[in-house]
Amino acid sequence: MGSALDGRHALITGGGTGIGAAAARHLSGEGAKLSLLGRRIDPIQAVADELEATAIQCDVTDPDRVGSAFDEARAANGPIDCLIVNAGIAESAPFHKTTRESWDRIVATNLTAAFDCARAAIGDLLKSDSGRLVFVASVASLRGVPYAAHYAASKHGLLGLMRSLAAEYAKTSLTVNAVCPGYVDTPMTDQSVARVSEITGRSADDSRSIITNMNASGRLVDPEAIANVIAMLCLPLSRDINGAAITLDGGTTA
Ligand code: NDP
Repeated sequence: MGSALDGRHALITGGGTGIGAAAARHLSGEGAKLSLLGRRIDPIQAVADELEATAIQCDVTDPDRVGSAFDEARAANGPIDCLIVNAGIAESAPFHKTTRESWDRIVATNLTAAFDCARAAIGDLLKSDSGRLVFVASVASLRGVPYAAHYAASKHGLLGLMRSLAAEYAKTSLTVNAVCPGYVDTPMTDQSVARVSEITGRSADDSRSIITNMNASGRLVDPEAIANVIAMLCLPLSRDINGAAITLDGGTTA
């Protein structure tokens, strides 16, 4: 890869695993300086060591900590040019068994924290000559998901936030977009496989195949493919892609 993002500072929430770690590698390959946030220090520190990035332990559901963590990121790598709002959690249950606690946890992590992170970076993003805000949404942003109403609602909300910011800042040099993956080969999908196994009593292989076949392609999406699109959205040349929700699901929503 070239170095189209040379010297630019990209902050990635949930940057130690899965899609976030893959995005870190792609953005680093384009020359970006990286700040990686997550609750567990070990995964973010491992990726930071590999890429000479900055690891910052932060629970994004704590708005005060988001403010101080973003300040630490700025102190290490300068003003934020690209913000990748990727941290997220998934849970599943029949709707009548979905608790208020579970709803609150999902909405706090997937939606309210996205608002806090965007707020914490917006000043920098608007000062950058090509500010980039990318939300990692989901195909669950685009249609209903049985047994995951709270997850789908939070991810639908994320697209509302994305589209509104894209419209509000359309005349600036900031772009705001989202990627909407189907099932991706990451730890989150491993957890979904384990849940299917636990609920249905099926083997791990059978459960994985049930999840995999929810993608029209019959295969899981490669996190590298999501990272590739995230990095593409961050390029200066992508300045006219604004307000887009880019689906990567092998055709399920076609
Ligand atoms: P992972 O579970 O590997 O990634 C989630 C990341 O978010 C972890 O690194 C986790 O780190 C971090 N995270 C979770 N909660 C918090 C928190 N409160 N504060 C800070 N960091 C947090 O799975 P993926 O890579 O798949 O998930 C990344 C995003 O992709 C999520 O938003 C998910 O909803 C979305 N997505 C995933 C799909 C899939 O099939 N896997 C499909 C569609 C969308 P830590 O636990 O250390 O905090």
